[in-house]
Amino acid sequence: MTSERPGKNSISFVIPVYNEEAVIPQLVARLDAIFEHIDADTNVVFVNDGSTDRTSQLITKNAASRPYHLINLSRNFGHQIAITAGVAQARGDAIIIMDADLQDPPEVALDMITKWREGYDVVSAKRVRRKGEGLFKRFTASLYYRILSKMTPIDIPRDVGDFRLIDRKVADVLNAMPEQDRYFRGMVSWVGFRQTQVMFERQERAAGTTKYPMAAMLRLAANGILGFSDVPLRMALWFGLTVALGSFAAAIFVFVGWLLGGSMVSGWASTMLFLSFLSGVQLLTLGIVGLYVGRIYNEAKGRPLYLIDPDQDRDMEASGVNDEQVAKHQH
Ligand code: UDP
Ligand code: MG
Repeated sequence: MTSERPGKNSISFVIPVYNEEAVIPQLVARLDAIFEHIDADTNVVFVNDGSTDRTSQLITKNAASRPYHLINLSRNFGHQIAITAGVAQARGDAIIIMDADLQDPPEVALDMITKWREGYDVVSAKRVRRKGEGLFKRFTASLYYRILSKMTPIDIPRDVGDFRLIDRKVADVLNAMPEQDRYFRGMVSWVGFRQTQVMFERQERAAGTTKYPMAAMLRLAANGILGFSDVPLRMALWFGLTVALGSFAAAIFVFVGWLLGGSMVSGWASTMLFLSFLSGVQLLTLGIVGLYVGRIYNEAKGRPLYLIDPDQDRDMEASGVNDEQVAKHQH
């Protein structure tokens, strides 16, 4: 069948895992089930993002009979960096990036592979419905993507997370992009090539709890805007222009008042209001500039994006965790 086509014979799954021990057994079972339907060599790159539970051991335990690779990062670097590390390590002709918690159903990968074989280089999974996500999250997410799309010339699709297939050539480009503050879905959009989408229903987390606290979510959101738009910087210009025009109008008002012979006793309140408004605008503008300067600082340091700990497996085996303990932690 299609597997004879050169360059379309192997598929790597990249799955970042951070304290996901509760979900690993289910994940492995679901992966096994779909691998039977994939007409290509499949392998999985698990990126252990500094888990403090038994995630690493559970994967090692399952790895023996399966084409699994485990990379242990030296600490928790965050979801986006974990994806970056996985894509850099994966060797497949195509790479499928997926969350561990089964919110991204592995079966959708089959649709992605079909599209890839039709000739697409990027196949993103678009959420048609989000189960188990509250009204607040859905509202803020939709508002955010609306604002983001207004601010950047790059078309970053709405309702699309990091669940997607990328072709080898796209992975090579992403691996060569050295930026430190990584907003993966934005980078993929920026790259171009032939992109398409498949639809899916976002599921509830199969087990465990979210590893994305509000602060991390906000940081990701800010990264998207700062990394793909300079509109906030240009807003400073418009603030300045608006205030300047306002004061010009006020000057005319005062002058006309003087010509008409009115007494112009200026109010204390209006002066204070104007002053505090101005200093607010100035601080805000300074803060925005600061955000961009911070990013330049980050880039200038040029530190490695992540560190891999080659010894961690050995250490964990030595710590002597047994299977009963693991089983207990699954519920
Ligand atoms: N994750 C990670 N490092 C982190 C946080 C999360 O590797 O610092 C992984 C996590 O294990 C999961 C994926 O990223 O596979 C998405 O995280 P989660 O499901 O907790 O996010 P949510 O779906 O709640 O936004
Ligand atoms: Mg999740």
